Amino acid sequence: MPSAPGPATDWRDLAACAGLPDHVVFARRPKAALPALRACAGCAVRHPCLEVVDPRASWFDGVCAGRLWRNGREVRISADARTAVRVKEQQP
Ligand code: SF4
Repeated sequence: MPSAPGPATDWRDLAACAGLPDHVVFARRPKAALPALRACAGCAVRHPCLEVVDPRASWFDGVCAGRLWRNGREVRISADARTAVRVKEQQP
């Protein structure tokens, strides 16, 4: 007999950044945001994160869907920082 379904999983329960401190997830500078950007690289819920946060419309500050945002605009990340994130993406 199949078991009754449990409560629906909220996408936030699958967020790879869960547990990171607020000052990392809501960082305004690339260096401070790197741990969150690395988490995004392996996050299964990037799409819902982007849809729900809607950084441009919400004038978001922080990391969302693998990008750093400040006042709803994407912050440029240096080539070195991007390399550090890509290394994480290539890891199993
Ligand atoms: S995409 Fe990044 S910011 Fe969004 S939930 Fe995943 S790890 Fe967190």
